[in-house]
Amino acid sequence: MRQIDVQEVSAKVRDAVMEINVHTPEPVMIQLNDILTAEPSPAGRLAMQDIVQNREVASARAMPMCQDTGMAIIFLEVGQDVHFVGGDLRAAIEDGVRAGYADGYLRKSVVEEPLFERKNTKDNSPPVIHFSLVPGDSFAMTIAAKGFGAENMSWAKVLTPAQGIQGVKDAVVQCVVDAGPNACPPVTVGVGVGGTLEMATILAKKALMREVGQRHPDERYAALEAELLDLVNATGIGPQGWGGVNTAADVRIEYYPTHIAGIPLAVNLDCHLQRHKRIEL
Ligand code: SF4
Repeated sequence: MRQIDVQEVSAKVRDAVMEINVHTPEPVMIQLNDILTAEPSPAGRLAMQDIVQNREVASARAMPMCQDTGMAIIFLEVGQDVHFVGGDLRAAIEDGVRAGYADGYLRKSVVEEPLFERKNTKDNSPPVIHFSLVPGDSFAMTIAAKGFGAENMSWAKVLTPAQGIQGVKDAVVQCVVDAGPNACPPVTVGVGVGGTLEMATILAKKALMREVGQRHPDERYAALEAELLDLVNATGIGPQGWGGVNTAADVRIEYYPTHIAGIPLAVNLDCHLQRHKRIEL
């Protein structure tokens, strides 16, 4: 059985939260520059220039690209033949988040309970961790820093089967319209459909973790992603809400089998930052 030391996992988490808050991967940079070039609205282009320049400055000076350094979200894919040694895996991941936010001088944005005192935990822990068990002895993590301008504008509901594909299209576009500039567009729109309500919500978040340019392998869903992108971009909200044809950088859908009586649907918006990174150990 393969052994993985949780301290190695912890160190990778620390480094990743620092990196994703500061540096922009090349495919995202290319995507943002393409949007800048293609945007016909002068005000929208100005917003895109600021977005691109902000990325360059953040990376050059090793500073966070936004004051909201996000809540850490970690998707784990754990091979069933892996044995973790050296401590508790969840505790090690939480330590990694704490270390990264401390060592990177990143804003601490997490409160210990959501309704009453809302006291800041002062170390950006705990992260939200999703575990998936997979065959074999592989181990992968996708680490994200989710800004709440976009998270706050996200949405979940169960549609009736009669509402069908048109109901999904209407709901996705309405979510983006309701978000307006608050989600810091150009957004990435993650759509989770099927399963149950909580499954759809996790699928919507997972959809945001795809790499730039990846379409759904099912060509029907790939076509729906492209159509939804056109519909969202026809809203005219534009970069940072300044008007234009680039309200979204992409729309991505993930689905799961569901019950005959419903269409669980979740829309999770990500801002233009797209801070996430996949690591395989
Ligand atoms: S939604 Fe994104 S870009 Fe907007 S403030 Fe939050 S982290 Fe920053």
